[in-house]
Amino acid sequence: MRDRLVIAIDGPAAAGKGTLARRLAEALGLAYLDTGGLYRAVGLSLLREGGSPDDPQAAEAAAKRLDPALLNDPELRGEATGNAASKVAAIPAVRAALLDFQRNFASNPPEGAKGAVLDGRDIGTVVCPDADAKLFVTASLEARAKRRVKELREKGIDIIEETVLQEMRDRDIRDSQRAVAPLVPAKDALVLDTTELDADAAFRAALRFIETRN
Ligand code: C5P
Repeated sequence: MRDRLVIAIDGPAAAGKGTLARRLAEALGLAYLDTGGLYRAVGLSLLREGGSPDDPQAAEAAAKRLDPALLNDPELRGEATGNAASKVAAIPAVRAALLDFQRNFASNPPEGAKGAVLDGRDIGTVVCPDADAKLFVTASLEARAKRRVKELREKGIDIIEETVLQEMRDRDIRDSQRAVAPLVPAKDALVLDTTELDADAAFRAALRFIETRN
């Protein structure tokens, strides 16, 4: 394998990208960046200010003065934040404002890591088109909604499955149909469908693919 590895992982919400990305980063000694957290932080700061995630000027300003403390905020992972994130993510100026940070993380990973794993929606297509290996992790809408409901219930949050399914469907449509950096697999990505694949099997398949690419 090469010295400096960059691995790009894309896919829709709750497909298992984060779990896979963390495991790969740990196994390969790479730094990990959850790029969804950046869009979520922009969405959350707007919700807190009472601004609208559909307002391009307000969203651009929030992206430009992004407060890193928000990345550890307990509300960052909430469903309302995820929905606001997918709205601000459709605004080109917001994406442009977050691009340098992501590229810089990939080319200068922190703490002497041997490279980086980034997960998101456009890592293999826009942020790191030259990544050493690209993975597209997906699963059926129903399987993803069930996982999200289980996750939320385990945290003590009572939620109606139909609501999660509907919001996830809306988010998928917004993310895949937007004009800038839509959610699509890169041409050279390995597509991993985790509807029937458990986390261990997905991890092994991803590792094998990374080894063949390097
Ligand atoms: O992955 P996560 O659910 O945290 O992402 C929240 C939202 O941020 C996504 O629905 C998507 O609209 C946006 N996003 C994006 N590009 C990325 C990462 C996330 O547009 N690279």
